[in-house]
Amino acid sequence: MDFDLNEEQKLLQKTVRDFAEAELRPHSREWDEKQEFPREVFTHLGALGLMGVCWPAEYGGAGMSTLDWAIVMEELSRVDAGVALSLAAHHSLCSGHIALAGSEAQKQKFLAPLARGEKVGCWGLTEPGAGSDAGGTRTTAVRDGDGFVLNGSKTFITNGRVADMAVVMAVTDKAKGKKGISAFVVERGTPGFRSGKKEDKLGVRSSDTSELVFEDCRVGAANLLGQEGMGFVDTLRILDRGRIGIAAWSVGIAQASLEASMRYARERKQFGHMIADFQAIQFKVAEMATRVGAARLLVHRAADLRDKGREHTAESSMAKLFAGETAVEVALEAVQIHGGYGYLKDYPVERYLRDSKLGTIGEGTSEVQKLVIARELLTLRGMVR
Ligand SMILES: Cc1cc2nc3c(=O)[nH]c(=O)nc-3n(C[C@H](O)[C@H](O)[C@H](O)COP(=O)(O)OP(=O)(O)OC[C@H]3O[C@@H](n4cnc5c(N)ncnc54)[C@H](O)[C@@H]3O)c2cc1C
Repeated sequence: MDFDLNEEQKLLQKTVRDFAEAELRPHSREWDEKQEFPREVFTHLGALGLMGVCWPAEYGGAGMSTLDWAIVMEELSRVDAGVALSLAAHHSLCSGHIALAGSEAQKQKFLAPLARGEKVGCWGLTEPGAGSDAGGTRTTAVRDGDGFVLNGSKTFITNGRVADMAVVMAVTDKAKGKKGISAFVVERGTPGFRSGKKEDKLGVRSSDTSELVFEDCRVGAANLLGQEGMGFVDTLRILDRGRIGIAAWSVGIAQASLEASMRYARERKQFGHMIADFQAIQFKVAEMATRVGAARLLVHRAADLRDKGREHTAESSMAKLFAGETAVEVALEAVQIHGGYGYLKDYPVERYLRDSKLGTIGEGTSEVQKLVIARELLTLRGMVR
């Protein structure tokens, strides 16, 4: 068992960290305040090969592993969690669905420009009435000649107003329940497809979030992604990877909170001492660092299992559950260590706290992760690794 990153992974980590420090750090506060999505950053990420980290080179990707992806997510999120979240939706959800279920022609047409960073993607599963219970999807796709006509809406969609294409789940056969849900690629500019309201959010404000609306939106049969009726089944497999990325994303925020706290504790003086001299502060830092380390290990274990082609559904959910809750706790302690200054925008820890909460909600809430873990252990696998 080797807990060290190899030389290539260390180089990847340094490259992404340097990029984030140079290109994201100087702007993060402004993007957060203005709730601005920095499109040009995604072109830059594409040039670095980070828009298609896990996809094969023949489709414009970098052909890297899930562990590499976790490194990328942690390093970007450590500086700007909004940018990292937008990349996660583009890469693991939208592109990931096409990589998993797409035909050769669909991979060439849709996946390659996404992986090269020429296009941005989004992924629409959630609806106003179907969140945790995503099997309750209401958006319909009715066969019409050699194509399908979509009607309905999706909500909370990351990159919803900026994406060039969307992968969307819609009911093709209501009688079959979850096995009657199919996935479609819908390109921007398709008549009947538009973005709806831009959401005004607590955190991850440099990430664009909006509704998607489908009104008699006709797509060709070539836009059906994977087998008809397999959209929801494929979704569960896509979320196995997605959750590792979001868990790494949470570790990035927790790491940033820890670093900021250590810095501040050594700078701030009260009662004639650095506050780092007080045991109450030392214990907080010790607990924060321990939790961050444990969360990272869970993320790397889940990524490693996936890379080895082994079962990892429960481990992905464990990583996401623990890392998501850890990021909130660690960011909250970071604000406490900063005292009143932690409550001001002058320091980044209030943003870390706001951003961190999404890790307990997106790609399945913490409660849903517990349901997944329990189902895997008690009914499907019957054992704990
Ligand atoms: C910023 C942001 C970005 C997002 N991006 C995307 C995206 O790109 N694509 C996409 O499809 N979706 C996206 N989502 C949606 C996200 O995945 C959902 O918000 C999430 O799955 C929860 O669904 P919900 O909000 O409807 O909450 P609900 O399902 O209504 O849950 C409300 C509460 O009830 C609890 N609950 C629900 N069911 C159970 C149960 N059976 N047992 C115990 N507790 C339960 C939940 O844990 C939660 O605490 C995004 C959300 C946000 C906030």
